[in-house]
Amino acid sequence: MPDASSRHIALTLDACSGQFDAALIQFLIEHRIPATLFATKRWIDRNPVGVSVIKSHLDLFDVEDHGERHRPAIIGAGLEAYGIPAHPDVEHLRREVLAGARAVELTFGVAPRWYRAATALYDKASIHEIDRLGYRIAGFSVNADAGATRSKAAIVRALARVRAGDVLIAHMNKPDSETAEGLAVGLAALLDDGFVFVRLDQAELQAVPDHPARRPRAPASR
Ligand SMILES: [Zn+2]
Repeated sequence: MPDASSRHIALTLDACSGQFDAALIQFLIEHRIPATLFATKRWIDRNPVGVSVIKSHLDLFDVEDHGERHRPAIIGAGLEAYGIPAHPDVEHLRREVLAGARAVELTFGVAPRWYRAATALYDKASIHEIDRLGYRIAGFSVNADAGATRSKAAIVRALARVRAGDVLIAHMNKPDSETAEGLAVGLAALLDDGFVFVRLDQAELQAVPDHPARRPRAPASR
């Protein structure tokens, strides 16, 4: 990530399962805000309209791997995270990562280089395997919408704390949430403040923490 004086930040949006937040994506298109989208195979299969909108704006959007079926990167029979079952073994994790990547590449024509697991939780064995498969783990430093559960005002407040070098996470799969409204206000304010949005595939991202739960804020390289 560039130095703080460059005012560079990255917006990442997860498409876990669910639907397509057309208002949010339309806002980004209208304001020419680049974003990195983390899509599951499941979301891609269920949202042909969303897929076609994104495909016609690949100048703005970088699509990366959010897995095949939206599973946390945790290995262990019977384990779960936020009610989502973990992988029983490493073979299942491998399939989750690779089938997700294949879906992105077949659909959008670009092979992903970044992986973000469902719930953004990883164990040691998973981190090792994801790395071995050649993917970088995409962390984040500012949680904008807390899984599309936050009010518009809370999202605006979260974005008001953004600093240069931050990586923001929000969701593009819940059109009934207040995410699009909150981001519209918060992102416009960041643009007014002179922040420049970059995509993960176009930035050197040493600022991206691998373990956001333990390191809540990425050190902006300064
Ligand atoms: Zn997700």
